[in-house]
Amino acid sequence: DLWTAKGHIEFRDVQFGYANDRVILPDFSLDIPAGRTVALVGTTGAGKSTLAKLVSRFYDPSRGAVTLDGVDLRSMHPKDLRRAIVMVTQEAYLFSGTVADNIALGKPEATLDEIKAAARAVGADEFISKLPDGYATDVNKRGGRVSAGQRQLISFARAFLADPAVLILDEATASLDMPSERQIQDALQTLLADRTAIIIAHRLSTVAIADRVLVMEHGRIIEDDEPDAL
Ligand code: ATP
Ligand code: MG
Repeated sequence: DLWTAKGHIEFRDVQFGYANDRVILPDFSLDIPAGRTVALVGTTGAGKSTLAKLVSRFYDPSRGAVTLDGVDLRSMHPKDLRRAIVMVTQEAYLFSGTVADNIALGKPEATLDEIKAAARAVGADEFISKLPDGYATDVNKRGGRVSAGQRQLISFARAFLADPAVLILDEATASLDMPSERQIQDALQTLLADRTAIIIAHRLSTVAIADRVLVMEHGRIIEDDEPDAL
């Protein structure tokens, strides 16, 4: 039977550094109740992406623990972990295959109707319908080339379809071909509903939809506010 996570994430006295002795997070604690959206902002090198990597277990803390619903991530089954926690990164990856395959990556058994519904939910349906073979377009073939902004929308659709309890988003810095601010905001609002989210935010519009905004500096939280207060 399937175990379903609620999505309560906690960093408990986490210490972390990469292989070279330098400590990036000296002593980090943070409690994110299930269903909340937390935006992380702060200077470059503050440790925001490092936090994201600890939640998705690219790395483990050297001290302390990251827990999901009170369970140390290290003692969770990798399969449960991958289903419960999904990360969408700045470099939204596409794999060889069709657009539909790429959206269904985390849920290979999805039907085409489910795939299309996910694309519609995040506003990716419009550009996909205009591709030479629609959802059957091979992303590596001529005519199947998609822009960085479109890749981002495909990865949003992928995350929506996978429907994890916890979503981590390392938001892309604005680039020329990005979908409009409005389109991203609408997509995010749909994507974040009913799940826990940690967003490394670069856009003001994203910060605004968070329940809490944490400002980081040198591996510590120096401010913790509601978005209005900033
Ligand atoms: P940005 O806003 O630029 O994305 P960030 O807050 O995400 O910054 P991190 O990527 O978490 O910052 O980096 C925190 C610190 O860890 C930086 O000093 C960085 O140089 C260092 N760092 C990041 N990744 C590695 C790595 N793989 N190996 C060694 N040091 C790393
Ligand atoms: Mg980063």
